[in-house]
Amino acid sequence: SPAMTDHPPNTALAANKAADVTTVHVPLPGRAYDIHIGADLLTGAGTLIAPLLRRPRVAVITDETVGALHLSGLRAGLSQAGISASALTLPPGEATKSWGPLQQCVDWLLDQKIERGDLVIALGGGVIGDLVGFAAAILRRGVRFVQIPTSLLAQVDSSVGGKTGINAAQGKNLIGAFHQPSLVLADINVLGTLCRRDFLAGYGEVMKYGLLGDADFFEWLEHNGPALAAGDTSLRQEAVRRSVQMKADIVTRDETEQGERALLNLGHTFGHALEAATGYGDRLLHGEGVAIGCAMAFDLSARLGLCAQEDPSRVRAHLDTMGLHKGLTNIPGTLPDAATLLTLMGQDKKVVDGQLRFILAHGIGQAFVASSVPETAILKTLAAG
Ligand code: NAD
Repeated sequence: SPAMTDHPPNTALAANKAADVTTVHVPLPGRAYDIHIGADLLTGAGTLIAPLLRRPRVAVITDETVGALHLSGLRAGLSQAGISASALTLPPGEATKSWGPLQQCVDWLLDQKIERGDLVIALGGGVIGDLVGFAAAILRRGVRFVQIPTSLLAQVDSSVGGKTGINAAQGKNLIGAFHQPSLVLADINVLGTLCRRDFLAGYGEVMKYGLLGDADFFEWLEHNGPALAAGDTSLRQEAVRRSVQMKADIVTRDETEQGERALLNLGHTFGHALEAATGYGDRLLHGEGVAIGCAMAFDLSARLGLCAQEDPSRVRAHLDTMGLHKGLTNIPGTLPDAATLLTLMGQDKKVVDGQLRFILAHGIGQAFVASSVPETAILKTLAAG
């Protein structure tokens, strides 16, 4: 029909949306937002973002790797809806989550004359999402931003829930703000350019959701994990949807981590200590630390008689199948001894009144917050590797 030839992009998006886009809603009062998950969302970005704009321009911040691969796709999607975009490209890597690049972002956004009513877009992994979200939180006391997460970790975890920030010399994520995005677009196709190691690191966080609160999901992953890692996009979309739905539900009930949200830190107390011991770099990626940390949290739970002996074995067997890290021996180089690792855990910001708070489990899918855990048991878990 003539109408269809007049508006091919919109018709395509409408069909695409009906067919493959799933939406998770985060119903936080006064700052509710949608998370769209689907193939080819960069192409539809303009149509999805346009309703949020007061004028047809946005500022995009990305990193060099993601920018080279996906910035032109995003620009094309935006321009289909008549939206122009200026872009700032930063170096990739965790070091970008620091004061220098934060200042660079804020200065650039001011130079771009971004006003309170404008929108900033974070296009990238968790580093860009955390940094740009924080820049948006402090620019003019807060401007709105859209997360376009491009790593698996960012799609299932960091882009949802509004934790933004940078690292300090004293530790990771110690400077930041809660600032919810106005929209999240998780394009499953962009995961296709992620290297296998980064994809698997993100999978560590996917598995975490099953382990902390949904045994059926963990079982689904045991069946579908390998095909999903090999590239099956509909399985990837389903894994992202289930993870995001769980995170959205938890964040809606406990936005500022007074209680239940702490469950999302399953595997993170061990993981952060290992990241600190390895210098937050290429030796151990965040998601790899989380994978080992989850295995250790179940090992510790079994040692304390809280869950069945088979549970830690099942976690490690799945990590093994996936080719993910499952213990300290997977980390190259020498590590500090168990006592030093225990001290590093004490630096974690999950320490309350000097007491280490651990996320332990009564079984797969049954995590809980434990406040006093005997040090001897922790040391045994660390020594066992
Ligand atoms: P990252 O942003 O460094 O991305 C990992 C690497 O993948 C980078 O080199 C990046 O350039 C590259 N990359 C990203 N998308 C790509 C794509 N589609 N194709 C090719 N390469 C791509 O790291 P990450 O693992 O995404 O996120 C880790 C960060 O997230 C950490 O700083 C962590 O603290 C933070 N985090 C935050 C939250 C939160 O709630 N805010 C939750 C979990 C983790």
